[in-house]
Amino acid sequence: MPFTLPELPYAYDALDPYMSAETLEFHHDKHHAAYASKAADLITGSGLEGKSLEDIVYASFQDPSKSALFNNAGQHWNHLQFWQSMKPKGGGVPPGKIMAKIDEDFGSFEAFRGKFIEAGIGQFGSGWCWLAMDPQTGRLEIMKTLNAESPIAHGKTPLLTCDVWEHSYYLDYRNARPKYLEAFVDHLVNWEYVEELLARGPIKF
Ligand code: ZN
Repeated sequence: MPFTLPELPYAYDALDPYMSAETLEFHHDKHHAAYASKAADLITGSGLEGKSLEDIVYASFQDPSKSALFNNAGQHWNHLQFWQSMKPKGGGVPPGKIMAKIDEDFGSFEAFRGKFIEAGIGQFGSGWCWLAMDPQTGRLEIMKTLNAESPIAHGKTPLLTCDVWEHSYYLDYRNARPKYLEAFVDHLVNWEYVEELLARGPIKF
């Protein structure tokens, strides 16, 4: 079932002090749960029943009459990726393969870190910032997207997902989005998951 809400892959307090249990409880149990349940309602009669979640997100983005389905299915997919993008004691300089790729495409880890944080700060209002791969060129790129949009809406493959909606950081960081983004990169990123997605290759639509 594409709209089942899985448990978080770690305990609610596992990312403390960088992301509190209170934030994770509200974010996963209320916000994410609501997107998943609305998407499950909206899929009926959409003509996209039985498709993979990625196909539903991609196809509903192309069709303005399906914008409510896109918003909820997109947010469900984005949050699934976001939970996997973090782990306790994560962050910092990544391991071998992804580090080599970051060096190749950004010049250095510091250059990547600066661009990623800048994209998250620069996303006006609610949205997301991403490390994604362009399947046409095979290159990594930093993206920022509004509301429920994601690289898959544009045919690209996300590798690292950061939620910059206020509900993701306001309880822990108030309005200090830059501090949240720094904590995400320095202490939370699950680089093993990023490597797994890189090894899996482009998402096919
Ligand atoms: Zn969120």
